Amino acid sequence: MVFLGIDVGGTNIDVVVMDEKFRNIGTFPTKQYISKFYELLEMLIQKYKPKAIGVGAAMWFRKNKPLNAPNLPEIIQVENIVLDIPIFWDNDANCFALHSSIANKAENLIGITIGTGIGCGVVMNREVIRGEGLAGEIGHTFVGGRKKCVCGGYGHLECYFSGWSLKNTEKLIKSGEIYNVRGFDLLCKAIANAVMLLDPQIISIGGRIGGKLDKNKLESSIYTYLMPQFNPKVKIIDDPLAVAKGACYLAILSSQSQ
Ligand SMILES: [Zn+2]
Repeated sequence: MVFLGIDVGGTNIDVVVMDEKFRNIGTFPTKQYISKFYELLEMLIQKYKPKAIGVGAAMWFRKNKPLNAPNLPEIIQVENIVLDIPIFWDNDANCFALHSSIANKAENLIGITIGTGIGCGVVMNREVIRGEGLAGEIGHTFVGGRKKCVCGGYGHLECYFSGWSLKNTEKLIKSGEIYNVRGFDLLCKAIANAVMLLDPQIISIGGRIGGKLDKNKLESSIYTYLMPQFNPKVKIIDDPLAVAKGACYLAILSSQSQ
């Protein structure tokens, strides 16, 4: 019995199959494949005959309906996709947080993905907290200024610290300059504020940029804004398949509870 986990991100669509261990079975460029997503699913189903599919997408869902996808070339119209097997959709950062929570055996965790944008998933008492659907959108919290955000808002965290707003992130990370940009301090402040609201055990950080950041630099900067009673550990998840694996867990857990 196998399950498929799919991560629809700004750059790539990653697919993993879960058997005795997660195997990466394909990476497809998003721009080319997003309009043919249904065909991609059909091909994968025929080949792997999964029991269920989980999809983590860089989209905002409210009541299971996609609302917006600021960092994707287009929104996938999920209601048009009807398959013979169950398919479960969620925001990609929720899948990331779910995977981090299971992998770290952490009941209370905030998972933050920093890549093209900033996503955040919240797991409390082992449950993904969704609110009305969009809980945890830390990348779109107001941190000051009038810089225009990809979501249509202004002064959001992503405007100062994200793949789309920072140029040459690879170079910035390599040289260590990334810790001196204003956005890094704003990121740590936003995380500290989230810690005060949620009191997690662990803050797990991943994504193309987040997975390359320094754990100690993040911890010391976040702790600057917290009282000593609050010192959640930072875990860096440098695994490009973390979202796809989380989507696989979503498929497994959701089909168990049906
Ligand atoms: Zn925004």
